Amino acid sequence: MKTHSLYIDGQFVPSSSANLLDVIDPAKAERLAVVPDAVAADVDRAVAAARRAFDAGPWRETTAQDRGRVLFKLAEAVRDRAAELAELETRNTGKPIVEAEFDIADVATCFEYYGGLATKIHGDVIPVPDNAMSLALREPIGVAGQIVPWNYPLLMASWKLAPAICAGCTTVLKPAEQTPLTVLALASSFADAGLPPGVVNIVTGVGETAGAALVGHPSVDKIAFTGSVEVGKTVMRDAAATLKKISLELGGKSPNIFFADSDFDVAVEGALFGVFFNQGEVCSAGSRILVERPIYRKFVDAMVEKARTITVGQPLDRETRLGALVSRDQFDRVRAYQDIGKREAKLAAGGGAASGPSLDRGYFVEPTIFYDVDNSHRIAREEIFGPVAAVIPFDNEADALRIANDTYYGLAAAVWSRDIFRALRMVKNLRAGIVWVNHMQPTYVEAPWGGYKQSGFGRELGKWGVDEYLNVKQVYINLSEQPIGWY
Ligand code: NAD
Repeated sequence: MKTHSLYIDGQFVPSSSANLLDVIDPAKAERLAVVPDAVAADVDRAVAAARRAFDAGPWRETTAQDRGRVLFKLAEAVRDRAAELAELETRNTGKPIVEAEFDIADVATCFEYYGGLATKIHGDVIPVPDNAMSLALREPIGVAGQIVPWNYPLLMASWKLAPAICAGCTTVLKPAEQTPLTVLALASSFADAGLPPGVVNIVTGVGETAGAALVGHPSVDKIAFTGSVEVGKTVMRDAAATLKKISLELGGKSPNIFFADSDFDVAVEGALFGVFFNQGEVCSAGSRILVERPIYRKFVDAMVEKARTITVGQPLDRETRLGALVSRDQFDRVRAYQDIGKREAKLAAGGGAASGPSLDRGYFVEPTIFYDVDNSHRIAREEIFGPVAAVIPFDNEADALRIANDTYYGLAAAVWSRDIFRALRMVKNLRAGIVWVNHMQPTYVEAPWGGYKQSGFGRELGKWGVDEYLNVKQVYINLSEQPIGWY
Protein backbone atom coordinates (compact mmCIF):
# COMPACT_ATOMS: atom_id res chain seq x y z
CA MET A 1 0.00 0.00 0.00
CA LYS A 2 1.40 3.32 -1.08
CA THR A 3 1.90 6.39 1.12
CA HIS A 4 1.62 9.46 -1.08
CA SER A 5 3.08 12.95 -0.72
CA LEU A 6 1.99 16.43 -1.63
CA TYR A 7 3.16 17.86 -4.96
CA ILE A 8 4.60 21.34 -4.37
CA ASP A 9 7.03 23.39 -6.46
CA GLY A 10 7.71 20.50 -8.83
CA GLN A 11 8.54 17.98 -6.07
CA PHE A 12 6.71 15.28 -4.15
CA VAL A 13 7.13 16.46 -0.56
CA PRO A 14 5.85 15.41 2.88
CA SER A 15 3.22 17.39 4.73
CA SER A 16 4.11 19.59 7.72
CA SER A 17 1.71 17.43 9.69
CA ALA A 18 2.06 13.71 10.35
CA ASN A 19 -1.67 13.17 9.87
CA LEU A 20 -2.71 10.85 7.06
CA LEU A 21 -6.00 10.14 5.30
CA ASP A 22 -7.04 6.64 4.27
CA VAL A 23 -8.03 6.29 0.63
CA ILE A 24 -10.57 3.49 0.21
CA ASP A 25 -11.44 1.08 -2.59
CA PRO A 26 -15.23 1.33 -2.21
CA ALA A 27 -15.91 -1.88 -4.14
CA LYS A 28 -14.01 -3.88 -1.53
CA ALA A 29 -14.25 -1.52 1.46
CA GLU A 30 -10.50 -1.80 1.95
CA ARG A 31 -7.65 0.66 2.17
CA LEU A 32 -5.99 1.44 -1.14
CA ALA A 33 -3.44 4.08 -0.12
CA VAL A 34 -2.81 6.86 2.36
CA VAL A 35 -2.31 10.55 1.56
CA PRO A 36 -1.27 13.54 3.66
CA ASP A 37 -4.01 15.35 5.52
CA ALA A 38 -2.58 18.74 4.64
CA VAL A 39 -2.74 21.65 7.05
CA ALA A 40 -2.71 25.42 6.51
CA ALA A 41 1.13 25.48 6.53
CA ASP A 42 1.15 23.10 3.52
CA VAL A 43 -1.33 25.30 1.68
CA ASP A 44 0.92 28.30 2.47
CA ARG A 45 3.91 26.51 0.90
CA ALA A 46 1.92 25.52 -2.18
CA VAL A 47 0.48 29.01 -2.65
CA ALA A 48 3.94 30.57 -2.17
CA ALA A 49 5.31 28.27 -4.90
CA ALA A 50 2.44 29.16 -7.23
CA ARG A 51 2.89 32.86 -6.44
CA ARG A 52 6.64 32.74 -7.18
CA ALA A 53 6.03 30.85 -10.42
CA PHE A 54 3.46 33.41 -11.49
CA ASP A 55 5.28 36.58 -10.40
CA ALA A 56 8.91 35.76 -11.13
CA GLY A 57 9.32 32.34 -12.67
CA PRO A 58 9.89 31.39 -16.30
CA TRP A 59 6.16 30.76 -16.64
CA ARG A 60 5.49 34.45 -16.80
CA GLU A 61 7.62 34.71 -19.93
CA THR A 62 6.22 31.64 -21.72
CA THR A 63 4.46 32.30 -24.95
CA ALA A 64 0.97 31.07 -25.76
CA GLN A 65 2.60 28.61 -28.15
CA ASP A 66 4.73 27.23 -25.30
CA ARG A 67 1.68 26.80 -23.08
CA GLY A 68 -0.15 25.10 -25.92
CA ARG A 69 2.73 22.63 -26.35
CA VAL A 70 2.75 21.83 -22.62
CA LEU A 71 -0.95 21.06 -22.79
CA PHE A 72 -0.49 18.85 -25.87
CA LYS A 73 2.23 16.94 -24.01
CA LEU A 74 -0.07 16.52 -21.01
CA ALA A 75 -2.74 15.11 -23.35
CA GLU A 76 -0.15 12.72 -24.77
CA ALA A 77 0.94 11.64 -21.27
CA VAL A 78 -2.68 10.91 -20.33
CA ARG A 79 -3.13 8.82 -23.49
CA ASP A 80 0.14 6.95 -22.89
CA ARG A 81 -0.96 6.17 -19.33
CA ALA A 82 -4.68 5.72 -20.08
CA ALA A 83 -4.97 2.08 -18.95
CA GLU A 84 -3.16 2.74 -15.66
CA LEU A 85 -5.15 5.92 -14.92
CA ALA A 86 -8.52 4.31 -15.79
CA GLU A 87 -7.84 1.35 -13.52
CA LEU A 88 -6.73 3.61 -10.69
CA GLU A 89 -9.82 5.80 -11.13
CA THR A 90 -12.04 2.73 -11.02
CA ARG A 91 -10.35 1.33 -7.91
CA ASN A 92 -10.66 4.66 -6.13
CA THR A 93 -14.21 5.66 -7.13
CA GLY A 94 -16.00 2.32 -7.67
CA LYS A 95 -17.16 3.39 -11.13
CA PRO A 96 -17.26 0.77 -13.93
CA ILE A 97 -13.98 0.48 -15.81
CA VAL A 98 -15.73 1.10 -19.13
CA GLU A 99 -16.89 4.48 -17.80
CA ALA A 100 -13.46 5.31 -16.33
CA GLU A 101 -11.94 4.68 -19.75
CA PHE A 102 -14.31 7.28 -21.24
CA ASP A 103 -13.37 9.72 -18.45
CA ILE A 104 -9.64 9.35 -19.09
CA ALA A 105 -10.11 9.77 -22.85
CA ASP A 106 -12.04 12.98 -22.07
CA VAL A 107 -9.21 14.18 -19.81
CA ALA A 108 -6.77 13.91 -22.73
CA THR A 109 -9.24 15.70 -25.03
CA CYS A 110 -9.62 18.49 -22.47
CA PHE A 111 -5.85 19.14 -22.30
CA GLU A 112 -5.67 18.98 -26.07
CA TYR A 113 -8.56 21.41 -26.59
CA TYR A 114 -7.02 24.01 -24.29
CA GLY A 115 -3.64 23.41 -25.93
CA GLY A 116 -5.23 24.55 -29.17
CA LEU A 117 -7.02 27.47 -27.53
CA ALA A 118 -3.87 28.92 -25.94
CA THR A 119 -2.86 30.73 -29.14
CA LYS A 120 -6.37 32.03 -29.79
CA ILE A 121 -6.75 34.18 -26.69
CA HIS A 122 -6.67 37.81 -27.69
CA GLY A 123 -8.12 41.12 -26.69
CA ASP A 124 -9.95 43.83 -28.58
CA VAL A 125 -9.37 47.23 -30.06
CA ILE A 126 -12.26 49.53 -29.16
CA PRO A 127 -13.12 52.48 -31.36
CA VAL A 128 -13.28 55.49 -29.06
CA PRO A 129 -13.92 59.13 -29.91
CA ASP A 130 -10.97 61.57 -29.92
CA ASN A 131 -7.55 60.97 -31.37
CA ALA A 132 -6.91 57.93 -29.21
CA MET A 133 -6.88 54.18 -29.19
CA SER A 134 -8.41 51.94 -26.57
CA LEU A 135 -7.28 48.36 -26.12
CA ALA A 136 -8.75 45.58 -24.00
CA LEU A 137 -5.93 43.21 -23.06
CA ARG A 138 -6.58 39.80 -21.60
CA GLU A 139 -4.19 38.76 -18.86
CA PRO A 140 -3.95 35.71 -16.61
CA ILE A 141 -5.65 36.37 -13.30
CA GLY A 142 -2.76 34.99 -11.23
CA VAL A 143 -2.80 32.16 -8.70
CA ALA A 144 -5.91 30.00 -8.89
CA GLY A 145 -7.14 27.80 -6.04
CA GLN A 146 -9.02 24.84 -7.46
CA ILE A 147 -11.22 22.48 -5.45
CA VAL A 148 -12.82 19.40 -6.99
CA PRO A 149 -15.26 16.65 -5.95
CA TRP A 150 -14.99 12.85 -6.05
CA ASN A 151 -17.37 11.77 -8.80
CA TYR A 152 -15.08 12.43 -11.79
CA PRO A 153 -11.76 13.01 -10.03
CA LEU A 154 -9.27 13.41 -12.86
CA LEU A 155 -11.83 14.78 -15.32
CA MET A 156 -12.93 17.54 -12.92
CA ALA A 157 -9.25 18.30 -12.24
CA SER A 158 -8.56 18.58 -15.99
CA TRP A 159 -11.56 20.92 -16.47
CA LYS A 160 -9.78 23.24 -14.02
CA LEU A 161 -6.07 22.71 -14.71
CA ALA A 162 -6.25 22.89 -18.51
CA PRO A 163 -7.92 26.34 -18.85
CA ALA A 164 -5.74 27.74 -16.05
CA ILE A 165 -2.53 26.62 -17.79
CA CYS A 166 -3.95 27.82 -21.11
CA ALA A 167 -4.52 31.30 -19.64
CA GLY A 168 -1.02 31.45 -18.09
CA CYS A 169 -2.16 31.15 -14.48
CA THR A 170 -0.53 29.04 -11.79
CA THR A 171 -2.61 26.81 -9.55
CA VAL A 172 -3.00 24.95 -6.30
CA LEU A 173 -5.48 22.11 -6.71
CA LYS A 174 -7.12 20.24 -3.86
CA PRO A 175 -8.69 16.94 -4.89
CA ALA A 176 -11.55 15.47 -2.89
CA GLU A 177 -10.32 13.63 0.20
CA GLN A 178 -11.92 10.41 -1.07
CA THR A 179 -10.29 10.42 -4.53
CA PRO A 180 -6.85 12.04 -4.71
CA LEU A 181 -4.99 9.23 -6.51
CA THR A 182 -5.27 9.89 -10.25
CA VAL A 183 -4.29 13.55 -10.13
CA LEU A 184 -1.30 12.65 -7.92
CA ALA A 185 -0.37 9.96 -10.46
CA LEU A 186 -0.58 12.45 -13.30
CA ALA A 187 1.61 14.91 -11.38
CA SER A 188 4.57 12.60 -12.04
CA SER A 189 4.23 13.54 -15.73
CA PHE A 190 4.09 17.33 -15.18
CA ALA A 191 7.84 18.01 -15.41
CA ASP A 192 8.25 15.88 -18.55
CA ALA A 193 5.39 17.78 -20.16
CA GLY A 194 7.37 20.98 -19.59
CA LEU A 195 5.48 22.48 -16.65
CA PRO A 196 8.01 24.54 -14.64
CA PRO A 197 8.06 24.01 -10.85
CA GLY A 198 5.26 25.78 -8.99
CA VAL A 199 2.88 26.13 -11.93
CA VAL A 200 0.64 23.29 -10.74
CA ASN A 201 0.67 22.18 -7.10
CA ILE A 202 -1.46 19.42 -5.60
CA VAL A 203 -2.44 19.50 -1.94
CA THR A 204 -4.43 16.59 -0.52
CA GLY A 205 -6.56 17.07 2.56
CA VAL A 206 -10.02 17.69 3.91
CA GLY A 207 -12.26 20.55 2.88
CA GLU A 208 -12.60 22.26 6.22
CA THR A 209 -8.81 22.47 6.64
CA ALA A 210 -6.88 22.48 3.36
CA GLY A 211 -9.86 23.63 1.25
CA ALA A 212 -10.78 26.46 3.59
CA ALA A 213 -7.13 27.58 3.87
CA LEU A 214 -6.96 27.85 0.09
CA VAL A 215 -10.22 29.80 -0.17
CA GLY A 216 -9.17 32.26 2.54
CA HIS A 217 -5.57 32.67 1.38
CA PRO A 218 -4.68 36.32 0.64
CA SER A 219 -2.24 35.36 -2.15
CA VAL A 220 -4.82 33.36 -4.10
CA ASP A 221 -6.52 35.46 -6.78
CA LYS A 222 -9.33 33.17 -7.80
CA ILE A 223 -11.20 30.12 -6.55
CA ALA A 224 -12.73 27.59 -8.92
CA PHE A 225 -14.93 25.24 -6.93
CA THR A 226 -16.95 22.19 -7.92
CA GLY A 227 -19.02 20.49 -5.25
CA SER A 228 -22.23 20.71 -3.29
CA VAL A 229 -24.45 23.78 -2.92
CA GLU A 230 -23.93 23.76 0.83
CA VAL A 231 -20.12 23.90 0.58
CA GLY A 232 -20.41 26.33 -2.36
CA LYS A 233 -22.15 28.79 -0.04
CA THR A 234 -19.36 28.39 2.54
CA VAL A 235 -16.76 29.00 -0.18
CA MET A 236 -18.58 32.15 -1.27
CA ARG A 237 -18.70 33.45 2.30
CA ASP A 238 -15.04 32.60 2.96
CA ALA A 239 -13.87 34.16 -0.30
CA ALA A 240 -15.61 37.42 0.60
CA ALA A 241 -12.94 38.35 3.16
CA THR A 242 -10.36 38.76 0.38
CA LEU A 243 -12.94 39.52 -2.33
CA LYS A 244 -11.66 36.85 -4.71
CA LYS A 245 -13.18 36.11 -8.05
CA ILE A 246 -15.01 32.79 -7.69
CA SER A 247 -16.73 30.31 -9.95
CA LEU A 248 -19.04 27.67 -8.53
CA GLU A 249 -20.13 24.47 -10.27
CA LEU A 250 -22.68 23.00 -7.90
CA GLY A 251 -25.31 20.31 -7.69
CA GLY A 252 -28.59 19.69 -9.44
CA LYS A 253 -31.95 17.97 -9.40
CA SER A 254 -32.36 17.93 -13.12
CA PRO A 255 -35.64 17.17 -14.89
CA ASN A 256 -35.64 14.64 -17.73
CA ILE A 257 -38.95 15.31 -19.50
CA PHE A 258 -40.73 12.78 -21.74
CA PHE A 259 -43.67 13.79 -23.94
CA ALA A 260 -46.03 11.09 -25.20
CA ASP A 261 -44.83 11.54 -28.80
CA SER A 262 -41.18 10.71 -28.03
CA ASP A 263 -39.65 7.56 -29.51
CA PHE A 264 -40.69 5.21 -26.68
CA ASP A 265 -37.85 2.68 -26.55
CA VAL A 266 -35.14 5.30 -27.06
CA ALA A 267 -36.79 7.44 -24.38
CA VAL A 268 -36.88 4.64 -21.79
CA GLU A 269 -33.18 3.99 -22.36
CA GLY A 270 -32.56 7.75 -22.08
CA ALA A 271 -34.40 7.91 -18.75
CA LEU A 272 -32.27 5.11 -17.28
CA PHE A 273 -28.99 6.38 -18.72
CA GLY A 274 -29.78 9.90 -17.48
CA VAL A 275 -30.09 8.82 -13.85
CA PHE A 276 -28.05 5.62 -13.41
CA PHE A 277 -24.91 6.54 -15.33
CA ASN A 278 -21.90 6.68 -12.97
CA GLN A 279 -24.13 5.21 -10.19
CA GLY A 280 -26.17 8.43 -10.35
CA GLU A 281 -23.18 10.27 -8.86
CA VAL A 282 -23.48 12.92 -11.53
CA CYS A 283 -24.19 16.61 -10.93
CA SER A 284 -26.45 16.68 -14.01
CA ALA A 285 -28.22 13.36 -13.24
CA GLY A 286 -31.76 13.33 -14.62
CA SER A 287 -33.08 12.33 -11.22
CA ARG A 288 -36.57 13.79 -11.75
CA ILE A 289 -38.17 11.88 -14.59
CA LEU A 290 -41.27 13.72 -15.81
CA VAL A 291 -43.56 11.61 -18.00
CA GLU A 292 -46.71 12.73 -19.85
CA ARG A 293 -49.81 10.92 -18.57
CA PRO A 294 -50.82 8.99 -21.74
CA ILE A 295 -47.56 6.97 -21.60
CA TYR A 296 -46.91 7.22 -17.86
CA ARG A 297 -47.75 3.68 -16.61
CA LYS A 298 -46.32 1.98 -19.66
CA PHE A 299 -43.15 4.06 -19.27
CA VAL A 300 -42.68 3.14 -15.59
CA ASP A 301 -43.21 -0.56 -16.42
CA ALA A 302 -40.70 -0.42 -19.26
CA MET A 303 -38.14 1.36 -17.05
CA VAL A 304 -38.52 -1.34 -14.41
CA GLU A 305 -38.13 -4.14 -16.93
CA LYS A 306 -35.00 -2.61 -18.41
CA ALA A 307 -33.54 -1.69 -15.01
CA ARG A 308 -33.61 -5.41 -14.14
CA THR A 309 -31.02 -6.00 -16.88
CA ILE A 310 -28.50 -3.53 -15.40
CA THR A 311 -25.48 -5.47 -14.15
CA VAL A 312 -24.44 -4.32 -10.69
CA GLY A 313 -20.98 -5.70 -10.12
CA GLN A 314 -17.33 -5.33 -9.38
CA PRO A 315 -16.25 -2.21 -11.24
CA LEU A 316 -13.21 -3.80 -12.89
CA ASP A 317 -15.48 -6.37 -14.57
CA ARG A 318 -16.13 -5.12 -18.12
CA GLU A 319 -19.77 -6.31 -17.98
CA THR A 320 -20.55 -4.11 -14.97
CA ARG A 321 -22.81 -1.12 -15.66
CA LEU A 322 -23.39 0.00 -12.06
CA GLY A 323 -20.41 -0.11 -9.72
CA ALA A 324 -19.95 0.82 -6.07
CA LEU A 325 -20.81 4.16 -4.48
CA VAL A 326 -17.72 6.14 -3.58
CA SER A 327 -17.76 5.75 0.22
CA ARG A 328 -19.54 4.42 3.27
CA ASP A 329 -20.96 7.93 3.86
CA GLN A 330 -22.41 8.08 0.37
CA PHE A 331 -23.80 4.56 0.74
CA ASP A 332 -25.54 5.54 4.00
CA ARG A 333 -26.89 8.72 2.40
CA VAL A 334 -28.36 6.89 -0.59
CA ARG A 335 -29.80 4.12 1.62
CA ALA A 336 -31.46 6.80 3.77
CA TYR A 337 -33.08 8.37 0.68
CA GLN A 338 -34.26 4.94 -0.48
CA ASP A 339 -36.10 4.68 2.85
CA ILE A 340 -37.45 8.24 2.63
CA GLY A 341 -38.74 7.41 -0.88
CA LYS A 342 -40.57 4.35 0.40
CA ARG A 343 -42.48 6.57 2.82
CA GLU A 344 -43.18 9.32 0.30
CA ALA A 345 -44.01 7.52 -2.95
CA LYS A 346 -44.41 4.09 -4.57
CA LEU A 347 -41.42 1.81 -5.10
CA ALA A 348 -41.20 0.20 -8.53
CA ALA A 349 -37.68 -1.25 -8.49
CA GLY A 350 -34.70 -1.68 -6.18
CA GLY A 351 -34.91 0.16 -2.89
CA GLY A 352 -32.02 -1.36 -0.96
CA ALA A 353 -28.38 -2.39 -0.89
CA ALA A 354 -27.36 -4.66 -3.76
CA SER A 355 -26.38 -8.16 -2.79
CA GLY A 356 -24.55 -10.90 -4.59
CA PRO A 357 -21.45 -13.07 -4.32
CA SER A 358 -19.04 -10.31 -5.32
CA LEU A 359 -20.89 -7.44 -3.65
CA ASP A 360 -20.70 -8.32 0.02
CA ARG A 361 -17.89 -6.06 1.10
CA GLY A 362 -18.39 -2.96 -1.04
CA TYR A 363 -20.82 -0.05 -1.12
CA PHE A 364 -23.31 -1.29 -3.71
CA VAL A 365 -26.96 -0.26 -3.98
CA GLU A 366 -29.72 -1.36 -6.30
CA PRO A 367 -30.85 0.89 -9.12
CA THR A 368 -34.01 2.29 -7.59
CA ILE A 369 -37.17 3.68 -9.21
CA PHE A 370 -39.94 5.47 -7.34
CA TYR A 371 -43.14 6.49 -9.14
CA ASP A 372 -46.17 8.64 -8.34
CA VAL A 373 -43.68 11.05 -6.86
CA ASP A 374 -44.89 14.57 -6.13
CA ASN A 375 -42.47 17.38 -6.85
CA SER A 376 -42.81 18.49 -3.23
CA HIS A 377 -41.38 15.19 -1.94
CA ARG A 378 -37.86 15.21 -0.55
CA ILE A 379 -36.74 12.66 -3.15
CA ALA A 380 -37.81 15.18 -5.82
CA ARG A 381 -36.27 18.22 -4.16
CA GLU A 382 -32.97 17.09 -2.64
CA GLU A 383 -29.91 15.95 -4.53
CA ILE A 384 -29.38 12.27 -3.65
CA PHE A 385 -26.30 11.69 -5.82
CA GLY A 386 -27.02 8.00 -6.24
CA PRO A 387 -28.99 5.66 -8.54
CA VAL A 388 -32.44 6.75 -7.35
CA ALA A 389 -35.05 7.89 -9.88
CA ALA A 390 -38.18 9.87 -8.98
CA VAL A 391 -40.83 9.49 -11.70
CA ILE A 392 -43.45 12.25 -11.76
CA PRO A 393 -46.49 12.36 -14.09
CA PHE A 394 -47.54 15.57 -15.89
CA ASP A 395 -50.60 16.66 -17.87
CA ASN A 396 -49.34 18.99 -20.59
CA GLU A 397 -46.52 21.27 -21.66
CA ALA A 398 -47.31 24.03 -19.17
CA ASP A 399 -47.53 21.51 -16.34
CA ALA A 400 -44.17 19.93 -17.34
CA LEU A 401 -42.53 23.34 -17.39
CA ARG A 402 -43.97 24.35 -14.03
CA ILE A 403 -42.73 21.15 -12.36
CA ALA A 404 -39.35 21.22 -14.13
CA ASN A 405 -38.59 24.79 -13.03
CA ASP A 406 -39.94 24.30 -9.50
CA THR A 407 -36.51 23.68 -7.93
CA TYR A 408 -33.81 25.89 -6.51
CA TYR A 409 -31.31 24.11 -8.74
CA GLY A 410 -30.74 24.94 -12.42
CA LEU A 411 -27.88 22.88 -13.73
CA ALA A 412 -29.42 20.80 -16.52
CA ALA A 413 -32.63 19.56 -18.13
CA ALA A 414 -33.62 17.31 -21.03
CA VAL A 415 -36.69 17.22 -23.26
CA TRP A 416 -37.82 14.29 -25.37
CA SER A 417 -40.33 14.92 -28.15
CA ARG A 418 -40.64 14.54 -31.90
CA ASP A 419 -42.40 17.93 -32.08
CA ILE A 420 -39.58 20.38 -32.75
CA PHE A 421 -41.73 23.41 -31.97
CA ARG A 422 -42.64 22.08 -28.56
CA ALA A 423 -39.06 21.02 -27.86
CA LEU A 424 -37.81 24.51 -28.71
CA ARG A 425 -40.51 26.19 -26.59
CA MET A 426 -39.34 24.04 -23.67
CA VAL A 427 -35.67 24.85 -24.35
CA LYS A 428 -36.53 28.55 -24.27
CA ASN A 429 -38.42 28.37 -20.98
CA LEU A 430 -36.40 25.88 -18.96
CA ARG A 431 -34.22 27.62 -16.39
CA ALA A 432 -31.06 25.54 -16.63
CA GLY A 433 -27.51 26.05 -17.86
CA ILE A 434 -27.55 22.97 -20.10
CA VAL A 435 -30.61 21.66 -22.00
CA TRP A 436 -30.49 18.49 -24.06
CA VAL A 437 -33.12 17.53 -26.65
CA ASN A 438 -33.70 13.81 -27.24
CA HIS A 439 -30.65 12.81 -25.18
CA MET A 440 -29.26 13.39 -21.73
CA GLN A 441 -25.65 13.67 -20.53
CA PRO A 442 -23.41 14.13 -23.60
CA THR A 443 -20.80 16.69 -22.61
CA TYR A 444 -18.22 18.20 -24.92
CA VAL A 445 -15.11 20.15 -24.04
CA GLU A 446 -15.98 22.65 -26.78
CA ALA A 447 -19.35 23.63 -25.25
CA PRO A 448 -20.08 25.61 -22.05
CA TRP A 449 -20.95 23.91 -18.77
CA GLY A 450 -22.45 25.54 -15.69
CA GLY A 451 -25.58 26.29 -13.74
CA TYR A 452 -28.45 28.71 -13.30
CA LYS A 453 -29.93 29.55 -9.90
CA GLN A 454 -28.29 27.71 -6.97
CA SER A 455 -26.41 25.36 -9.28
CA GLY A 456 -23.76 28.04 -9.35
CA PHE A 457 -22.21 30.61 -11.63
CA GLY A 458 -19.33 30.90 -14.01
CA ARG A 459 -18.82 28.49 -16.89
CA GLU A 460 -16.33 25.72 -17.50
CA LEU A 461 -15.22 24.21 -20.81
CA GLY A 462 -14.97 25.82 -24.22
CA LYS A 463 -13.85 29.38 -24.67
CA TRP A 464 -16.00 30.26 -21.63
CA GLY A 465 -13.83 28.11 -19.37
CA VAL A 466 -10.68 30.10 -20.04
CA ASP A 467 -12.46 33.43 -19.46
CA GLU A 468 -12.73 32.49 -15.78
CA TYR A 469 -8.91 32.66 -15.56
CA LEU A 470 -8.45 35.97 -17.37
CA ASN A 471 -8.55 39.58 -16.31
CA VAL A 472 -9.35 42.37 -18.74
CA LYS A 473 -7.02 45.37 -18.74
CA GLN A 474 -8.11 48.50 -20.57
CA VAL A 475 -5.30 50.52 -22.15
CA TYR A 476 -5.84 54.08 -23.41
CA ILE A 477 -3.27 55.47 -25.83
CA ASN A 478 -3.30 59.15 -26.59
CA LEU A 479 -2.41 59.56 -30.28
CA SER A 480 -2.49 63.34 -30.21
CA GLU A 481 0.69 65.28 -29.55
CA GLN A 482 -1.30 68.34 -28.42
CA PRO A 483 -1.44 69.49 -24.79
CA ILE A 484 -4.54 68.29 -22.98
CA GLY A 485 -5.67 71.92 -22.85
CA TRP A 486 -7.71 72.01 -19.67
CA TYR A 487 -5.60 74.22 -17.36
P1 NAD B 1 -18.50 18.62 -1.43
O1 NAD B 1 -19.09 19.97 -1.61
O2 NAD B 1 -18.71 17.92 -0.15
O3 NAD B 1 -16.91 18.68 -1.63
C1 NAD B 1 -16.34 19.19 -2.80
C2 NAD B 1 -14.93 19.63 -2.52
O4 NAD B 1 -14.97 20.73 -1.61
C3 NAD B 1 -14.05 18.57 -1.85
O5 NAD B 1 -12.75 18.65 -2.39
C4 NAD B 1 -14.05 18.99 -0.40
O6 NAD B 1 -12.90 18.58 0.30
C5 NAD B 1 -14.08 20.50 -0.54
N1 NAD B 1 -14.59 21.21 0.65
C6 NAD B 1 -15.44 20.77 1.61
N2 NAD B 1 -15.63 21.72 2.54
C7 NAD B 1 -14.89 22.80 2.17
C8 NAD B 1 -14.69 24.09 2.71
N3 NAD B 1 -15.28 24.49 3.84
N4 NAD B 1 -13.87 24.95 2.06
C9 NAD B 1 -13.28 24.58 0.89
N5 NAD B 1 -13.43 23.36 0.34
C10 NAD B 1 -14.24 22.48 0.95
O7 NAD B 1 -19.00 17.77 -2.68
P2 NAD B 1 -18.73 16.24 -2.99
O8 NAD B 1 -19.57 15.43 -2.06
O9 NAD B 1 -17.27 15.98 -3.06
O10 NAD B 1 -19.28 16.15 -4.49
C11 NAD B 1 -20.62 16.04 -4.78
C12 NAD B 1 -21.21 17.38 -5.14
O11 NAD B 1 -20.49 17.97 -6.23
C13 NAD B 1 -22.63 17.23 -5.64
O12 NAD B 1 -23.44 18.23 -5.07
C14 NAD B 1 -22.50 17.43 -7.14
O13 NAD B 1 -23.68 17.85 -7.77
C15 NAD B 1 -21.41 18.42 -7.23
N6 NAD B 1 -20.79 18.41 -8.58
C16 NAD B 1 -21.06 19.43 -9.46
C17 NAD B 1 -20.53 19.43 -10.74
C18 NAD B 1 -20.83 20.54 -11.73
O14 NAD B 1 -20.14 20.61 -12.75
N7 NAD B 1 -21.79 21.40 -11.50
C19 NAD B 1 -19.70 18.37 -11.13
C20 NAD B 1 -19.45 17.35 -10.23
C21 NAD B 1 -20.00 17.38 -8.95
